[in-house]
Amino acid sequence: MKPVLIVGGGPVGLTAAQCLAAADIPVIVFEADAAISEDLRASTFHPPTLDMLDRFGLGTALVAQGLVTPSWQVRLHETGERAVFDLSLLRDDTNHPYRLQCEQQKLQFLLLDSLAQHPHADIRFDSPVDLVGQDADGVWLETRGERIAGSWLIGADGARSIVRKTLDIGFGGETYPETTILITTDFDFSTVMEGLSGVNYFWGQAGAFSLMRLPDLWRSSYTPKPDQSVEDALTPEAVERHLQDVAPRSTPYNVMHKRTYRIHQRVADTYRVGRMILAGDAAHLNSPNGGMGMNGGIHDAFNLAEKLIEVWRGADDGLLDLYVRQRRPIAIEHVIAQADRNRRRMRETDPDRRRALLTDLQRTADDPKRARDYLLNSAMLTGLRQAAAIT
Ligand SMILES: Cc1cc2nc3c(=O)[nH]c(=O)nc-3n(C[C@H](O)[C@H](O)[C@H](O)COP(=O)(O)OP(=O)(O)OC[C@H]3O[C@@H](n4cnc5c(N)ncnc54)[C@H](O)[C@@H]3O)c2cc1C
Repeated sequence: MKPVLIVGGGPVGLTAAQCLAAADIPVIVFEADAAISEDLRASTFHPPTLDMLDRFGLGTALVAQGLVTPSWQVRLHETGERAVFDLSLLRDDTNHPYRLQCEQQKLQFLLLDSLAQHPHADIRFDSPVDLVGQDADGVWLETRGERIAGSWLIGADGARSIVRKTLDIGFGGETYPETTILITTDFDFSTVMEGLSGVNYFWGQAGAFSLMRLPDLWRSSYTPKPDQSVEDALTPEAVERHLQDVAPRSTPYNVMHKRTYRIHQRVADTYRVGRMILAGDAAHLNSPNGGMGMNGGIHDAFNLAEKLIEVWRGADDGLLDLYVRQRRPIAIEHVIAQADRNRRRMRETDPDRRRALLTDLQRTADDPKRARDYLLNSAMLTGLRQAAAIT
């Protein structure tokens, strides 16, 4: 049989390739870039993602490269009052009762190494796909003037997916008005701020921000002040002012990276047309608040590959519609909805409403049963369980 073609060598495309190659199904991945991108993107892996990756020994390998983060918190910056969520409450629900703080490209490099051991996997960088097409018997794509035929095609080509556009699949939703700034520094905030977790969401008088710890650095995300343009907020002086607001110190901060991004919440009208199927950012986009976009995309890849393996072995291809029925509602009702709630909560500016939200979070965090339910949801386990119940 002709190979499965995967457009996009991001975390989702490579995970799908890994699942299929491990089942002895030939796959070719086409990646437009010359190498794995090292842009600042996902930094949080949730427990079920690590459980899934461990089917290939990759969860353990990733944990060795990241920072095990047993709790996360929401906090009032000026007083230090906080609600701390303890992920060990999920110890009976997962083999990884923590968030792993680790850059997404580290997973991609691990996947590339693993795929290099599979004779069925062919990963082609510098291969932008310009055209895709299909008929009843197969699919094809064109890259750099060459036409390649396949049996099925997975569109894991990110937010601007050429596969989704060619299939004319609607991508309804909205783009939030704000631009977010993300910077990194090698300063260790835990030496000056009491009781920090590895993942921290702050309400501050000067604005809301996050502090995320990675093995070698800390990240902070925030939005420009109401009277500030994005350009002004990105100047070295303004970035320094933000960091001094986070933790005043006499020496200037060493800022290692800075970037901006816009946030969308969108979902594709369908994930499948015939022999072409969407996964990851090509199918859904959400606010990074809560760290669920890549994780959800990896869950798509595992779910889709499981079905495609059965279809490859002779099952009716209607099984692929079950992938859509299981994964699309989860993107809408869990990932996008939860990320939107997280974003709205942190954008609250009224001190009384912030305090009421914090009190509610503290009550939840301090009650083991409520906290476990909350964590099952925020760690994406509830969505996966509900999807598994859809037949
Ligand atoms: C600042 C930030 C922080 C984030 N934090 C988190 C987090 O903590 N946790 C989390 O789960 N998610 C997070 N996300 C979201 C996460 O980065 C994405 O959801 C994830 O990268 C999606 O993976 P993907 O493989 O679907 O798409 P992508 O990573 O976008 O990969 C798509 C690939 O397809 C390639 N491509 C595109 N078009 C073509 C073409 N025509 N031909 C060939 N190749 C093509 C691209 O070059 C790219 O390599 C964050 C995002 C941002 C911006």
